[in-house]
Amino acid sequence: MAYINCENVSFAYENQVVVSDLNFQVNEGDYLCIIGENGSGKTTLLKGLLGLKKPFQGQIILGDGLKPTQIGYVPQQTEAQRDFPASVWEVVLSGCLNRRGIRPGFSKEDKARAEKNMELMGISDLRKRSFRELSGGQRQRALLARSLCATEKILLLDEPTTGLDPVAIEEFYRLMQELNQKHDITILMVSHAIREAVEHASHILHLSQGSYFFGTVKEYEESDAGKYFMGGESHG
Ligand code: ADP
Repeated sequence: MAYINCENVSFAYENQVVVSDLNFQVNEGDYLCIIGENGSGKTTLLKGLLGLKKPFQGQIILGDGLKPTQIGYVPQQTEAQRDFPASVWEVVLSGCLNRRGIRPGFSKEDKARAEKNMELMGISDLRKRSFRELSGGQRQRALLARSLCATEKILLLDEPTTGLDPVAIEEFYRLMQELNQKHDITILMVSHAIREAVEHASHILHLSQGSYFFGTVKEYEESDAGKYFMGGESHG
């Protein structure tokens, strides 16, 4: 049984179908990039995977013991989030809120978990710094450490390299590889960057108006869609 099984799923807004008859699976250890042009339905699918939007048809089944709360969501960075008036430590620790239930305060385990994940993301020395004063790359590592407090299984990232400089982008992909290969974290990433996706992911889901491709990176590179989009895409 896969972590995520998407069976004949369609999404619609007011009966207008925007994604139709989608079938794909995500297994433990996969690194899936969801690519496609603006308006192809990436955000809609993401909401579906998070349980925030119901499929119009078909179903999304979570398996292999995966609970909806174990999907760690890393949102796209917005201006409002950038201005969040909290320390790095507070931001990271807040990832434990789901585990905490209704108990007031954070437990020793929560704090140890936050500590461990800050170390993993290389931001222990930034703990007292204000989140809003960080660079884009540092902010993202804080958000990753926060998500890792919420899940040890699967991360869902929305356009994670937007606004990062080339060095931070490279560092980001290195961290993803480490989480995926060393720490067995399954990764789902919505991305604009086809070449980067092909370089780093294990699987590709390419949405385009009315159709889609799903398969391994190798299958994608050999497919008509892959050849067309990779051949036609300019660098950058
Ligand atoms: P992407 O994330 O790939 O840019 P979206 O999932 O945002 O694509 O959008 C897919 C399609 O659904 C687009 O045609 C968009 O106009 C439409 N859409 C998205 N959100 C809404 C909404 N809240 N109401 C109506 N249509 C929507």
